[in-house]
Formats: sequence, structure tokens, C-alpha cells
Amino acid sequence: MEMESQASIARSSETQYFDVIIVGAGISGIGSAYSLQRECVDKTYVILEAQETFGGTWHTHRYPGIRSDSDLYTFGYSFRPWTEAPIATAERIVTYLKGVIDENDLARHIRYGHKIISADWDSSRKRWQLTAERTDTGERLKFETSFLWMCQGYYGHEKGYTPEWLGMENFKGTIVHPQTWPADLDYSGKRVLVIGSGATAATLVPAIADDAAHVTMLQRSPTYFNPGTNADPLADQLRALEIDEHWIHAIVRKKLLMEQAERIRRAKEEPETVAREMIEAVKTHLGSETDVAKHFTPRYRPWQQRVAFIPDGDFFEPFRKGKASVVTDEIERFVPEGVELESGQILDADIIVTATGFRLCVLGDIKFSIDGTPLHLSDTVTYHGMMFTGVPNLVWVFGYFRSSWTLRVELIAEFVCRLLNHMSAIGKAMVTVQLRPEDMHEPQLPWIDEENFNPGYLTRDMHLMPKRLNKPEWQHTQDYFSERVRIPAINFDDPIFVYS
Ligand SMILES: Cc1cc2nc3c(=O)[nH]c(=O)nc-3n(C[C@H](O)[C@H](O)[C@H](O)COP(=O)(O)OP(=O)(O)OC[C@H]3O[C@@H](n4cnc5c(N)ncnc54)[C@H](O)[C@@H]3O)c2cc1C
Repeated sequence: MEMESQASIARSSETQYFDVIIVGAGISGIGSAYSLQRECVDKTYVILEAQETFGGTWHTHRYPGIRSDSDLYTFGYSFRPWTEAPIATAERIVTYLKGVIDENDLARHIRYGHKIISADWDSSRKRWQLTAERTDTGERLKFETSFLWMCQGYYGHEKGYTPEWLGMENFKGTIVHPQTWPADLDYSGKRVLVIGSGATAATLVPAIADDAAHVTMLQRSPTYFNPGTNADPLADQLRALEIDEHWIHAIVRKKLLMEQAERIRRAKEEPETVAREMIEAVKTHLGSETDVAKHFTPRYRPWQQRVAFIPDGDFFEPFRKGKASVVTDEIERFVPEGVELESGQILDADIIVTATGFRLCVLGDIKFSIDGTPLHLSDTVTYHGMMFTGVPNLVWVFGYFRSSWTLRVELIAEFVCRLLNHMSAIGKAMVTVQLRPEDMHEPQLPWIDEENFNPGYLTRDMHLMPKRLNKPEWQHTQDYFSERVRIPAINFDDPIFVYS
């Protein structure tokens, strides 16, 4: 950014044009740029990123213990080998991404500190007109592009979601959200109360338990956990045989995908057995001190929410050692010394961590319009969870939750590059998706079936999301194993695509 800032300021009054603008330099934006510059060599492009560096999620989240819960053989890209233990810290993921940027000379295409605030489609010129704000100077810059590749993720990066509890202002200690964890927060010798029991709590609790006086994890209801070893025996064996890392990556990736397909199939077809197995595994890690029936037996089916992988069972260790405990109850109100529960119990705390999730962010909080008319994405129907009826030349990269997010980044990248090359070949500058006559009378349903997947941030704000139809092409199925066949087979001559 430093290198580029003088040049940008000089250009600031002009509109800068690029064939493609990628929004966001997280794992989606970097992977998409890689594909674009290989598959569409004649296209000019820029990545606009609001933050001061790349990484997205893996830069934003800095709470103790932050790590992936997917294996990096599938969360990493297919084209760059992962050579370490499957579960990785944010730091290792950022290093991996830096490798991709360096090896592919992507840095010169990224503008940091550029937050896009508005985007208007101009039909007469067949271009998006964007306004970006420089986060360092507040200066407004104008960009134009023929195609918007939205890689801005799904949640607001500025701050996490914290419910409004009664009396929060009365609490005498410190309240922190993991998404905005203060670098200087001193929790040693303190009583820490973690509200929530999702993936964040599962990584945070073991990371702080040794130093804290005690950690209490408070949950409204129990969560599934998937304890396992942070090693892949096949990868280790192939490495010992000095097999090329590209081969190891490809083989282990395929193996893990097959295992994942089997896990998902079983979770759907025999949910009670899978639930029992997972709860049994937790029981063996926890020992007899913890009431597993009360605190670790969820009320929902496995995989209706993302299941946190627990490498080497580390999350359970502080519970076994008495350094952490779990309470299942609802908060009545905050009190000066901690929180009062519906049962009447008071939980004392010096620090309260609200591991309560994210704020859903639809299309990067950018004010979108089409020829000056505000766009409400909830009025559109989604095509494969990536394009939207009536919204030209735009794709949103929304990955998988049950499989690694990045698997979908690559599927969508292949789709976009093929689409852009097709449009060049037929000499068209504008593409929109439209419902076919047989789709017109189908009921328009919420973005995702809550029976299929129901994390809090989606159910809270589902009304803001586009609609789906009960047909695989008109929804984000969250099913990699069918989409990896269906998306590459999309025929751009289908009447769903309207060109001009
Ligand atoms: C703590 C945590 C752990 C996770 N672990 C996993 C995991 O193990 N496996 C998995 O599959 N998924 C995981 N996820 C989901 C995860 O978010 C995705 O897998 C993935 O990192 C998302 O990448 P992304 O590039 O699409 O979006 P993000 O990482 O959210 O990055 C989007 C980028 O776009 C930028 N941006 C947004 N709006 C604008 C704008 N208006 N103008 C300019 N720039 C903008 C943001 O600043 C950000 O840098 C996790 C999520 C969290 C929060």
C-alpha cells in the first residue's frame, strides 16, 4: 500500500477502469485472482480490500488459540500443497496465503485500505460504477468495472455479534468479543466467563485455561464436538517415502474428501448413530467429572451446524484438570460481579468473553443500485448461490460450511472464468440470470432450509438474503459433492443466461 499510495492519490479524481474488480483479499479473493490471471489472461483486474493487509478472516481474528477447524488439505487450494499438520493456526494460514501471493505476483494487483461503499450498475455503459473510501485518508475514489467478483465473505469484519443483555453496563469487569480481542488483554490469574460453546469457544478455552484462574463456559444449549488427531497418517507415510508434495496434497485431499462425503452421508442417513458416536467420543475425553448428558448432548442433529474439530482433544483437557467448567443455562441479567442465570445462580467473573458469533453482512455492506434504483438482494432469487436474478455481471463467492469453504471458491472461479471467456467469444458485455417459464410459479423460499443448516447468524438475518427455489440450480445447496459435477457442467447457452 505504501508503494502505491502516491500514485493513487495522484489519480484520485479520475475514474479507474478494470475489466474485473475482486472485492476482498481473503482466501476467496486471492484464490479467485489466481484463477482469473491464469484463465483470462487478457483481462485487467484489481482486488480492493478494506483492511490493511490480506487474509480476511485469518487476519481479523486474533484471539488466543485461533485456528482452522477444517483440514488445510481441503481448506488450502488444490494448486498449492499444504505440507504441515491438517489443522492450522491463523498465522500458518496467512503464511500459506502469502506464498500464493508471492509465487503468482498478485501483490501488485491488490489495493489495501480501500473500502467499497457503493456500487451502481449503469446499463447504458454496461459497467459497475464503484465508490471506494480510503481508510487512511477518508478520500473517495471512483472505479469502474465490467464484472464484480464479490469475495467479501459473509460477516462484518469491524465487530462481532453481541446480544443485548439486561444490565450489561453494570458489570464491573471487562467484556470482550473474540473478533475484537485486545492485544493487551491480561487474563492471567483472572476468572474468565466465556459465553457460547461454538468453534471459537472450543479454541479459546484451552488456549487461556492454563493462565486464567478459572474458565467457565456458559452455553444455552450443548454443541457437538469432533475430537481427533491433528495428523494425517497417510500424509506422514507418503512424506517419509519422499513423495513429491504436489502428489501428497492431491492424494490426501482426495482421501479426506471421500471421508467427508461418507461422514455427511451417515449424518443424514443415520443421525442418531452418528450423534451417539460423537457424544461417546467426547465422554472418553472428559472422564467422569462432567455431566455429559446435561452439557454435551445437543438437541439438534449433527451437521445442522458446523461441528468443531478438536485436535488431540485439547479442549477437554482443562475440564478434566478442573481448570474449566461448563454451565448450561440462560442469562437473566448482568450484575456487577458477573452474570445472574435464570436458575438464580450467579457466575462471578473478571472478564466476560462473548463468543456469540458474527453479524451477517450481505455483499460487504455496500450500497448497491441498478441504474440508480436501490437493490434489495432479498427481492432476488439466487442462481447456485452465486448469481442473482436481475443483477448483471456479478458473482458472490459464498463457500461451504460443512465442507471446506475454499472448495467452492475454486468451483466458482472455474465458472466465472468460463463465463467471461464465453462472453468475449460471443461479443457480449452484459449477462443476467432469469427464471425460466417453468420456474416462475415455484414458491420462493428463504436462502437456506433451516432443517439443512441453521447457524444463528443466518437464522437471525435470513430476511436479508436472496431467495431460493426448491431446485438445485436455484439455491446454494451446501453440497460440494453434487456441485462439483453440476457447476462445471453449466451450459452458458441455457435460457437462464440473458446476454446483451
Ligand atoms: C474464526 C473463524 C474460523 C473459521 N474456520 C473455518 C474453517 O476451518 N474452515 C472453513 O471452511 N471455514 C472457516 N471459517 C469460515 C471462513 O470465514 C471462510 O472459510 C473463509 O476464510 C472466508 O474467506 P473469504 O475470503 O470468503 O471471506 P473473509 O475471510 O471474510 O474475507 C473477506 C475480505 O473482504 C473484505 N471486505 C469486506 N467488505 C468489503 C468492502 N465493502 N470493501 C472492501 N473489502 C471488503 C474484508 O475486509 C475481508 O478481508 C471460519 C470463520 C471464522 C470467523
